[in-house]
Amino acid sequence: ETTSGGDAVRDGLRRALESVEGAEEELGRLDAVAGDGDHGSGMVRGFRRAVEATEGYGGTAGAVLVRAGAAFSDAAGGASGALYGSAITAFGQGLDANGTDAPGVHRALEDALKAVRSLGGAEVGDKTLVDTLAPFVGAFGESAGSGVPAREAWQSALAAAEAGAASTEDMISARGRAAKLGERSRGSRDPGATSMLYVLRAAGEAIPQ
Ligand code: ADP
Ligand code: MG
Ligand code: MG
Repeated sequence: ETTSGGDAVRDGLRRALESVEGAEEELGRLDAVAGDGDHGSGMVRGFRRAVEATEGYGGTAGAVLVRAGAAFSDAAGGASGALYGSAITAFGQGLDANGTDAPGVHRALEDALKAVRSLGGAEVGDKTLVDTLAPFVGAFGESAGSGVPAREAWQSALAAAEAGAASTEDMISARGRAAKLGERSRGSRDPGATSMLYVLRAAGEAIPQ
């Protein structure tokens, strides 16, 4: 594993930052339906700090992500700060342990999902970012298992992430702040499921051919 993997990760972090900056208002609006309205600002703070903390840092892809995850948690705060931060860190540790070919990326994605689940306890159907991430990881694994390279596997798994994010619209929130308002959360997408889709889309653009 070379530092070129680190460059790709830095590129992905910058793309994720641009993406959540463009969606900051939308994510805030979604979070205001049954939460406290800060999801857009938290995501922007998190990725800004993650980009700053890894600029000019010459580590492997995994090492850059581990550093980015810690910076993200510190800056973003809130439930999603801790969840995204631990997912980013676990993804980095997974890449360092398993490599960056498609099967290695799949194992690292599974580690990220496991980190989110053990920290937050959410399952598919609870109206959280897990509703986007879990089907994405599953779809990525199917492509990776049949020999598709990481970049293409990531692109095709985005369809499952989109369907997962859309599925949250009809759900009632069962986790986090929005769970207190239950029924009021039905009828609009979960903010974290929405930001996860945008982040996965942006990150995919940075995977080398
Ligand atoms: P906070 O609720 O602390 O203000 P954010 O608004 O930034 O945090 O993030 C809210 C998002 O975090 C939700 O839309 C949901 O996707 C995600 N979330 C909250 N709690 C959990 C949990 N226990 N497991 C998984 N995701 C969660
Ligand atoms: Mg919030
Ligand atoms: Mg908050």
